Amino acid sequence: MNKTNNIKDKSFFPKGRSWIEIDKGRLKKNIAEFERILPKGCQLMPVVKANAYGHGAVSIANELNRLGIKSFCVATVQEGVELRKNGICGDILVLGYTHSKLFYLLCEYHLIQTVFDHAYAELLNAYGKKIEVHLKIDTGMHRLGICPEAINEIFDIYIMKNLIITGIYTHLCAAETLSEKDAAYTKKQEILFYEVISELIKRGHACGSKHILASYGLLNYPDLGGEYARVGIALYGLLSEKDHVKDCPVSLSPVLSLKTRIVQVRNIYAGESVGYGLLYTADSDKTIAVLAVGYADGVPRALSCGKGNVLINGKQAPVIGRVCMDQMMVDITDIPNVRVGGVATVIGRDGEEEITVYQLAELCGTNPHEVCCHFSERLERILV
Ligand SMILES: *Cc1c(COP(=O)(O)O)cnc(C)c1O
Repeated sequence: MNKTNNIKDKSFFPKGRSWIEIDKGRLKKNIAEFERILPKGCQLMPVVKANAYGHGAVSIANELNRLGIKSFCVATVQEGVELRKNGICGDILVLGYTHSKLFYLLCEYHLIQTVFDHAYAELLNAYGKKIEVHLKIDTGMHRLGICPEAINEIFDIYIMKNLIITGIYTHLCAAETLSEKDAAYTKKQEILFYEVISELIKRGHACGSKHILASYGLLNYPDLGGEYARVGIALYGLLSEKDHVKDCPVSLSPVLSLKTRIVQVRNIYAGESVGYGLLYTADSDKTIAVLAVGYADGVPRALSCGKGNVLINGKQAPVIGRVCMDQMMVDITDIPNVRVGGVATVIGRDGEEEITVYQLAELCGTNPHEVCCHFSERLERILV
């Protein structure tokens, strides 16, 4: 699984076309901020699924390893394998489903698999080799997990001889706010989770590490404790909504910028159109720039036709026409000194101006998570 960000041969030129820059200093600062509020005895277990929310899983996990972080979460077994092949050390927990045909990868690459029901536990146990697992309890999200009422099934999983159970966890689904309703639901989830644990302890089972907090859990309900906090979105300096940032107990800095090359500069006469479908027609003579990035790279098509801008030479350049698969065009009539080979910023700061992931998410009617995880393999990830 050689990724573009790891190609070391001479064909690799890191800022050739379009790329993502990750600010290492900000990543480190975000981690320091979480460490201030982590409950006692709790460590970070960063979530680097979906290519680290589009940020580049290998680059991010490598940097986190360097900063002393020794546990990670991924969604799929392949994501875990990719980290191992690139030298990532420590525990790697697969949060999602792994097909039985791929159980060998769990063993070969020392990955920890989530067990989310009795039948799946039996399947893993029947594989015949020792597999390290964490048990996932469904305390109210009703996604993956075994229900607390199925306590006898849970006991049964603990005596399966090929499962090495080193952890138990649950996931909160209403932790984004401290509203009365959300706080009550979260409390209920906490109680159910710790009840299962006390039943297990009564039976003499060591539960291993317990974990309950994701980003919003850590920010809003740190008292829930646990030995790990599975922090995803906040690690990257983002939250679900921009408004949440100001009420947040820590200061978060977004780590990602998205940049592209200006590959052609051209003049358009009044009345001429730009792009597919003739959706833009110049009302006067214009200068436009063609950028080497498009929706196949993950730039939302929702930026088309003036809805979005990029930054060039510290100024806003409106998108004209439709964003294409591999290119997009912007109006630079009012921006002096734009040169072919120069850089345009799709996300990030340029001089006084800034374009944020939140702005793109709002244009797309989605959350920052979705915007970021659409950034494709085609973009190189560069730590700066
Ligand atoms: C994705 C995920 C996380 C991380 O969530 P964030 O809100 O991004 O911090 C934690 N735990 C589980 C089970 C997840 O699926």
